[in-house]
Amino acid sequence: MSASETPSPSTRLIVVSGASGAGKTSVAHRLLEDQRFARAVTATTREPRGTEQDGVDYHFLTAGDFHKRLIAEGFLAPAEVYGHWYGTPRENVEGILASGRHCILVIDVQGVEDLKESEVDALYVFVDAPSQEELERRLKSRGDDAPEKISARLRAAREELEKKDLFDRVLVNDDIKRAARELAGWVGLELA
Ligand code: 5GP
Repeated sequence: MSASETPSPSTRLIVVSGASGAGKTSVAHRLLEDQRFARAVTATTREPRGTEQDGVDYHFLTAGDFHKRLIAEGFLAPAEVYGHWYGTPRENVEGILASGRHCILVIDVQGVEDLKESEVDALYVFVDAPSQEELERRLKSRGDDAPEKISARLRAAREELEKKDLFDRVLVNDDIKRAARELAGWVGLELA
């Protein structure tokens, strides 16, 4: 077994959040190239976008099924975001940690407040863009949303920035690979 496959003795839930457009998903994807990390797939009632796949990007559920499972299984951080429901099945997180991998949960700031209120033990990481101008540029260049959605995300991003203090660490995403290496270092791992 190579060093990169050796499971770390104590695995952690790493909650990755931050302003929309700061690149939290990109940093998470970079970490997930290393098998010592796995992502908790969350559930949503929104429609799949582009190449998104059920069970990989999200568990895409109808509103009825979402609420049935929420009650039956217990979801972490259930929340309505931009008119759709999101939540993380608990067993997804527990299964990953039990398998000896660090569990990455990418979630909005509202979800982080919820997790902290429920005293969920995790390393809470706020991903930030290097500057406000860069954040706005990234949001506008996404191209997958209508202008009114971009304005809504910009407004949300400003509010999210005010919540930085909730987090254990702030990760400046100036370069995805560098940022992922820094985050891995916080759980004692060196990325290739
Ligand atoms: P999108 O629809 O753009 O994929 O996600 C919208 C927001 O919902 C993102 O900020 C995403 O991180 C967040 N999100 C994803 N899963 C969950 C979850 O289980 N709970 C909460 N509260 N937010 C989530």
